[in-house]
Amino acid sequence: MLVVEDEVKLASLIRTALREQGLLADVAIKGEDALWMAAATPYDVVVLDVNLPGIDGFETVRRLRGEEVQTPILMLTARDGVEDRITGLDTGADDYLVKPFDFGELFARVRALARRGPTETGPELRVGDLSLDVARHTARRGDVEIELSTKELQLLEVFMRRPGQVLSRYDLLERAWDMEYENRSNVVDVYVGYLRDKIDRPFGVESIETVRGAGYRLRA
Ligand code: CA
Repeated sequence: MLVVEDEVKLASLIRTALREQGLLADVAIKGEDALWMAAATPYDVVVLDVNLPGIDGFETVRRLRGEEVQTPILMLTARDGVEDRITGLDTGADDYLVKPFDFGELFARVRALARRGPTETGPELRVGDLSLDVARHTARRGDVEIELSTKELQLLEVFMRRPGQVLSRYDLLERAWDMEYENRSNVVDVYVGYLRDKIDRPFGVESIETVRGAGYRLRA
């Protein structure tokens, strides 16, 4: 991980706490340093303070995304300001945490982001005759374009990045929903149903399998 925080004492505390959890972190104290470090090293997650000397956290995210660095970014905001959060997410951050924060919550957020992996805007995903253009938010089976809601697209993307892999409801929740849904696993079943109604049933196929007691799997 990369921790970008100019308060040296806090940065060091975060690094030590992460290490105790088995997570290794480099520390940068300026946004400018974060730019070259994150470009040079494929970190799993960047934890980025908003208030930094020189270029601030928002500008750092903007430039990282501009440089095609797609590492998940967790922003640390000083205030519980809605504006800060919106600005952070708009500029390309993936999540935020309000200072002062609980280390347990930091670990949970960092792990969730690390598991989710980079938000690639790359080429089309393909599994059989099913294709998904992540950047353009369009799905097709063969030549037929399928209209999906944002959440359905996100869920389909999770499946299509892991064809043949059994994904538990919890895996799917973590990757396609926010933390707030953590205890509502039936939402996954509902959305898998919606997806089947759109990508499978009209075409007479069963690409999303139910694996009893384990979860779901997109046939490779
Ligand atoms: Ca700071």
